[in-house]
Formats: sequence, structure tokens, C-alpha cells
Amino acid sequence: MAELVAGLVKEIATLRKLLAPRRAAGETVGLVPTMGALHAGHRRLLEMARAETDVVVASIFVNPTQFNRAEDLDRYPRTLDQDLDVCRAAGVDLVFAPSAAEMYPAAMYPGEPPRTWVDVPALSEHLCGPGRPGHFRGVATVVMKLLQIVQPDRAYFGEKDAQQLAIIRRMVKDLNVPVSVVAVATVREPDGLAMSSRNRHLTPDERRRAAVLSQALFAARDLVQRGERSAEAIRTSVAPLFEAVQLEYFSIVDPETLVPVERIDGPVLIAGAIWLGATRLIDNLTVAP
Ligand code: AMP
Repeated sequence: MAELVAGLVKEIATLRKLLAPRRAAGETVGLVPTMGALHAGHRRLLEMARAETDVVVASIFVNPTQFNRAEDLDRYPRTLDQDLDVCRAAGVDLVFAPSAAEMYPAAMYPGEPPRTWVDVPALSEHLCGPGRPGHFRGVATVVMKLLQIVQPDRAYFGEKDAQQLAIIRRMVKDLNVPVSVVAVATVREPDGLAMSSRNRHLTPDERRRAAVLSQALFAARDLVQRGERSAEAIRTSVAPLFEAVQLEYFSIVDPETLVPVERIDGPVLIAGAIWLGATRLIDNLTVAP
């Protein structure tokens, strides 16, 4: 179906019409949800979906309900033409790029939130939760909508957003969604910085300082692997690395419940968020002693 390669679809009904015969023919569907401004991290997700499923759908939707700050939503990079090239090169079959009105049509007034929310409260209250009220409810809601719209066999998410991944896994389990959630390892720049659409906001000086987050994560991992078992000692030891940035949090938590741990007795998720000017960056590593 060459004419469908990276075909751009904006309507839910059209997407369903295109997918139905493929599914009826026994083909498997892979979904890669994104907010666009695609980079090598997204590319890795698309390539995995391409390798593992017959029909690859990439969604590009800057979801308003997951932004808790209006200026962050306004400033979020939008590069649809380049994104379509990336999707084409990765062998994506369909790019679903709906408008906000297509995704949230029930609003009675502009900006009205959706009437139905999907919320995973226990996992949303840690790490990024306190700094981004409502964010994960917006993420869970839009991902649930995308899963209902596309009905993929497999959906691909980056470990870069570890809390989002944990919340989506929990949601899929709790609500019996028939999809396999596939986690994809974080793609990094040569200096360790995790690739992110937000990196393009950094000034050259901020870009240089941004590397401290991954450096702290790698240093924390080394400490755990050399036998340190106290979360507090690890946090104290890496704290000087954050002197030239604004630290939101640096936490060592249980990878499933996201509850902070004091002693490291099994695998842990080490995660952090920093601010460089108006840009917020997150990163994490899963570490086993
Ligand atoms: P976003 O467009 O930022 O919402 O990200 C879309 C998907 O790409 C999410 O599942 C992210 O976790 C994933 N992703 C973003 N950055 C990276 C990265 N550096 N490496 C791997 N996956 C990533």
C-alpha cells in the first residue's frame, strides 16, 4: 500500500476507515504516540514499531490537557513538515495529527476540559507530580483516547518518561486495555543529555550545563554499584553537581510504586528534574544493586 506511506490523517473517522481493512486482513498495528518535534529518541520508537508490527501509526498531538502552564503549551515546538519527513524515513504508514477540536470536541466553550478523565492518582503524586499538577491526568486521558482510536496491538513509550510509562502500564492493567506496552531505552546525546523536544529551547550556555542531570544519574548509579545503600548519602554526594542549575527534585524511588526508598535493597528508579531558565528537563535511570 505504497500510497499510504506516512500518509497524513487528521480525522479519527478516516484513520479508523484506513485501519479496519488492514486489521481485518490479520495485520498487526503499532502505535507511537508523540507530541512532534521528532528527534532521534522518537526515531528509535518508530524503528522498533516498524520492526515489530505490520502497520505503524505515529500520532503527533500537542495535547493541551497535559500542560499545566499556558506558556509552556504556546512555546512547545511544532515542526509538522520535518516530522513527516522523519516518519517517512522511518517507514511509518500513517501519521495521525488531529486538531485539539477533533480530540476534544465535546467542549461547550473554548478551553473547556474533557468531561471524562483517566486518573492514576497514586503514581501521579511522586516525582514530577507535585511540580506539574494535572499533567499525568492529561497524559493518561489522551493516551487512553489514542488507544481507543487506533486500537493497536502494541504501543511504544520511552523510558525517558519513566513516570509516564509506569502510569500507562498501570492504566492499561487496571482498565483491561488489550495492548502490549513496549518500553524503549532512552536515546542520549554524546555528553549524556537525554534527547528531548525541549532541548531546542536551550541557549548554548544552558545546553552545556544541561549535561549535569545525566552526570548525576550516572554518578548515582556508580555509587549504588560500588555498594552504597543509603539514598540520602547518594543524594548528598551528587548535590554539588546541581550548583549551576535549578534543581526541582532528585529522587530514588521504587520503580513500580514510585514511592521514595531510604535503603536500596533491590532495583530502584533514580530520577531528576532541573530547570535551565524557562526550560524544564527530566531524566532517569533504573539501577539494580
Ligand atoms: P514526547 O513527544 O516528548 O511526548 O515523546 C513521545 C514518546 O517518545 C514518549 O514515549 C517519550 O518517552 C519518548 N521519548 C522522548 N524522548 C526520548 C528519548 N530521548 N529516548 C527514547 N524515547 C524518548
